[in-house]
Amino acid sequence: MRFIITGPPASGKGSVAPFITKEYNILHISTGQMFREEIKKGTALGLELKKILDQGHLVSDELTDEMVRQRLNQDDCKNGFLLDGFPRNINQAKYLDAYLEEKGLKLDFAIALVADKDIIIKRLIGRRVCQTCGKNYNIYFTQPKKEGVCDLCNTKLVKRSDDTLEIAEARLQIYNEETAPILKYYEEKGILLKVDGNLKESYDTFLQIKEKVNAK
Ligand code: AMP
Repeated sequence: MRFIITGPPASGKGSVAPFITKEYNILHISTGQMFREEIKKGTALGLELKKILDQGHLVSDELTDEMVRQRLNQDDCKNGFLLDGFPRNINQAKYLDAYLEEKGLKLDFAIALVADKDIIIKRLIGRRVCQTCGKNYNIYFTQPKKEGVCDLCNTKLVKRSDDTLEIAEARLQIYNEETAPILKYYEEKGILLKVDGNLKESYDTFLQIKEKVNAK
């Protein structure tokens, strides 16, 4: 199975992803995570990326498309994938379609999480992430058992540098202007699954997705 998952920042994409990848035995590919890993390495490219991410802006299509192409070419994607955070605009969506067509493949579903602005803002400014395994927590909604420490790896949780109120507003605006149009694009292809992203438990969000996939 090949999925993309989209939605405004903090609509729950990263939290529901592990349930989906486990269910369909596919790989989770998050472009945001790939950029953050490059930033962590401290390379020249990483420094450039940090500036872009810290403003809440989008990385260029050229760089992002190429990074995704190289990742999808790897053997571990053969069984399918969940692309999280890509495509972010119509051009990227067309790039993905062209790539898949070239390989004789197609996208099965585009999952779109829909969430209310007040919930998104709270999730964004309250989000804390494990530096080791990437698991997300939230100081308002889903606290770890021990404050500030990941339940799974006992590592310190950190706040993403782009999770501030000011950047959250910028990212939301960019989502509405640049990314939201891809919903119509996938709707016209008949593969859009709109899902409620306001739910507290990611597992419940996953159950909605599974039900919609099975109904198709
Ligand atoms: P995310 O982890 O999906 O919230 O992405 C974090 C940041 O990475 C975004 O705000 C963008 O700056 C960048 N980013 C992630 N995916 C893309 C993409 N497909 N195109 C351009 N920029 C991206």
